[in-house]
This record gives sequence, structure tokens and C-alpha cells, in this order.
Amino acid sequence: MGAEARFGKASVRDADVGEKCVLVREDLNVPLEEGKVADDSRIRAALPTLELLRERGAAVIVVSHLGRPKGRDPELSMAPVAGRLGELLSVDVPVAPGVVGDEVEAMTGELKPGEVLMLENSRYEPGETENDPELSKQLAALADLFVHDAFGASHRAHATTEGVAHELHTYAGLLMERELVELSAVRDHPEPPLIVVLGGAKVTDKIGAIERFLRTADEILVGGAMAFSFFKAEGRDTGNSLVEEEGVEKAREALEKAEGEDCLLELPEDLVLGREFDANTERKELNGVDVPEGWMGLDIGSNTAADYSKRVARAGTVFWNGPMGAFELEPFAQGTRTVGEAVASAPGRTVVGGGDSAAALVEFGLDDEVDWLSTGGGASLEFMEGKELPGVAVLPDA
Ligand code: ADP
Ligand code: MG
Repeated sequence: MGAEARFGKASVRDADVGEKCVLVREDLNVPLEEGKVADDSRIRAALPTLELLRERGAAVIVVSHLGRPKGRDPELSMAPVAGRLGELLSVDVPVAPGVVGDEVEAMTGELKPGEVLMLENSRYEPGETENDPELSKQLAALADLFVHDAFGASHRAHATTEGVAHELHTYAGLLMERELVELSAVRDHPEPPLIVVLGGAKVTDKIGAIERFLRTADEILVGGAMAFSFFKAEGRDTGNSLVEEEGVEKAREALEKAEGEDCLLELPEDLVLGREFDANTERKELNGVDVPEGWMGLDIGSNTAADYSKRVARAGTVFWNGPMGAFELEPFAQGTRTVGEAVASAPGRTVVGGGDSAAALVEFGLDDEVDWLSTGGGASLEFMEGKELPGVAVLPDA
């Protein structure tokens, strides 16, 4: 079934935008290194909506947050992001001197069809995170209609992700649409069997998703530091492994719940250990999961990686969130690489969410091999839990 078929929200595809001034919320919260964009994935993901609007003769005002500035902070100016966007769109993208106000209004008033202007970092305005109606009104005054394309920021009720949608005719952008279609397919009507691979640092970030998937998935395969909260809950030795203490009780509850469900909750059967979190540390493989004193588990072992890969290959649908180990350290990247390769070559539908999981796929050159790589880390997890995202709830029905 096509993407449009299941999308019940007003879409930018159907918006009359010619000669109009359109405010577009994108999630351009990209990593910067030495003042340059270090990974432009999120900028690329925004292109389809921006290109569609330009082709249809809209004047385009782009707004996003970048990092967490407390007020104006030149280090977190949108300038490098606008520069990269301009290269990708082959058009000059100037940056307004602020988010709202007279000078900004003067610039947006001059904007011609097909032109693109970037507002400054929305978090320069304290009203952004406060979802201040006054700021939303000022934003609305800049444009004729609003296109919400920032799925990755839609779990926050801020002025640019929620408030302004009450002030202008609002449409979902193409990225927002694709995210919602892909993620709801996994959450609400997955092709069985649904295999969920969960890793990463903290079990408390992911417990909501685990609880939901215990009811809907066939197997949940656990890796990453998160596994040690489960091992601790089982009374095993975890050595110096990263154990999130708050997560141990949650893990115990999840193990108990799993008893009563048809879903299999799998933990690693072997590990790769290091002395410390460092690429040059002493390394050893452990055929088992009881971590001796003086060692920490930094990756899943080869038997676990092979077993998880076999399960992923049998899936009708795969959802993967969180690396299987400390993949940034080459000696401990193999588990994540093996599972990533299995997800990439799985015949079933494959959807990946999470900033570090996405970074891992990019690093291994596998990002184009999955069916959908979500731009939303926190947002995709909250969506999977079944929580209502304020920036999605505010989208009008078609
Ligand atoms: P995502 O962003 O994909 O949701 P998380 O942010 O939850 O993933 O977790 C990613 C982090 O978890 C990475 O920085 C990785 O180094 C760390 N990590 C994974 N496994 C381990 C481990 N066994 N020990 C220490 N850190 C780990
Ligand atoms: Mg992360």
C-alpha cells in the first residue's frame, strides 16, 4: 500500500502554496564540529518538502532549533546549517537576524516565490520551549501557512512544533508523513513475525517501548549496556559494566511480564569484555555473561551476534533501536556491525530509529540498505510506546 493510502492528516501535497509565504518547521538539529555541519542527514531528509514548496512557487521560511542555547549564542547560529542547505538546494539561503521581530518581518515580506530564508535558532527565544502563545502569534505573522516537517522534534510541545500550528493553516510535510506511515506500520500493523532489536545505554529510555513490544512483537533481542540491567536483575555478576541502577527494577518487571506473554525476551549469551571504556584497553571474549571483577562488558559476543542475525533474517518486520555495544570503539564494534548487516540484508521490512543506531549504520555504509532510517530518536521511541506526540496531535485531519 502506498504511503498516501494510510495517511489521514492534511498533507503538503494537497496544499495550495503558489505565491504564498510558507513557514516550515524542520528538524535541522545536526551535529557541528568546529563550526561545520558534521552529519547532514537531517538536512537531506528535509529536502523533499522544501523542493516541493519551491517548485510550486512558494516563498519558504525555514525554522529549526539547534542544540540547547540559553538565549542568543553565536556558537549555535543556524548559519552553517543554512550554508549546507543552500549547497544542497543550489540556492542562496540567507539567515534572518533573529527568530521574530521587525527586522525579520522586513526580510520575510520581501521573500519571492522559490526563495528560501532561514530563521535563527528557535531556542534563541525563551518562548520557544515555554510554548508561549505570543511567540507563536509572532511566528504566524511571518507567513500565510505552516508546514510541520519536524517529526524528530514533535515529542516536544514548543512554539515552533505545536503552538504556531494553532495560529496558521497547517499541513504535514513529506518527511513527517513518511515517518508516521513507516513507524505506525511497525507499531500498529507489522508483517509478522515482528523482531525488535534494542540496545544502547539506558534501559529507562526504552522500557516503555519494551513493555509495548512485549504485547505486539514476537521477539525482543536485547544488547548494549542496557543488557546489564537485566543481568543484574537476574542476580548475575556485572563487574564494572555500565549498569543503570534505576533500570534494574524496571528490567526485573519486564522479565516478569515477559513470562506471561507470547513474546520472547532474549538476552546475550556471550560478551566481549574490556578493562575500561577505551579503544586501547585490554580485550577478551567471554563465553558466558557473568562478568569477572575488573572487567566490563562492551559488546555482545559472536554467538549472540550470529543468533540475533539469524532471527532478524526470519523477520517479516524488524525494528532496531540502540547499538549492541560501544561501537564508537573499533574493538567493540563487531556486534553492532554484524547485527546491522543482518538488518540491512533482511528480506522483511526494516525500520531503524535512534541517533546512535543511525550513526552506526552510516559509519558501516549501511544506511541506504534499510527501508526506513528514522530521523527521530526520542520521538520515534515515544511514538512506539503509543504516547501522543504534541507536534503530531496538532496536525489537522485530511
Ligand atoms: P540510540 O541513540 O541509538 O537510541 P543510545 O543513545 O541509547 O542509542 O545508546 C548509545 C550509546 O550506548 C553509545 O554511545 C554506546 O557507546 C553506548 N553503549 C552501548 N553498549 C554499551 C556498553 N556495553 N557499555 C558502555 N556503553 C555502551
Ligand atoms: Mg543516543
